[in-house]
Amino acid sequence: MTTDLFITCACGSRIPVSQGQAASVVSCECGRECAVPGLSELRRQSGQDAYTTNAVESVHKAIGEGDLPGPNCIQCQATPDYLIRCRVVCERSFAKNSTSEDEAHFGAFFLGIFGRLFSPLWIKTREQVSVTHGRDTVVEPSFRLCRSCQASAGNLRRKRTLRRLLRLVPQYAQLLHEYPQAKLLFLEARESPVTNADES
Ligand SMILES: [Zn+2]
Ligand SMILES: [Zn+2]
Repeated sequence: MTTDLFITCACGSRIPVSQGQAASVVSCECGRECAVPGLSELRRQSGQDAYTTNAVESVHKAIGEGDLPGPNCIQCQATPDYLIRCRVVCERSFAKNSTSEDEAHFGAFFLGIFGRLFSPLWIKTREQVSVTHGRDTVVEPSFRLCRSCQASAGNLRRKRTLRRLLRLVPQYAQLLHEYPQAKLLFLEARESPVTNADES
């Protein structure tokens, strides 16, 4: 799954890249700097079927089927008091500036007879064009905590705390493993003794 990723340079060379080099820039032997797209796009370009990764799919599937969040506190399995929601931005589509040359025909100013007298005057304008690679891959995991685990966990807004708690859930742990650069964001902690079974 993690092997055989590559990008193709404008010179035609195939540059092998690692998963960790997704959404970065690598240099080719020819001297060109080549933008590496985000992981899912990189996989797609490398001919791997999965557009989103296994981890993203399995989390979405588990949430969709009601397996996540689990009914109990993720740390001690006690009856939960809080539902914690957070956001994991696995990868962002990123914009790379490139330059295109737009040609504007100024000969059009000279109509009628003048058009015949003056050779067409061309002016090139350089314009910054934004090229987007890949797309955002965002997952919104939620999990439950009991009051005492919530109190001992520390500040959930701290990424380290959130990461540690998310890792307690195998699907989330896999997600963070596949996307070591993922951005974690705490959304809310809702007082919610309700379990999945009660909600449905
Ligand atoms: Zn090259
Ligand atoms: Zn607990």
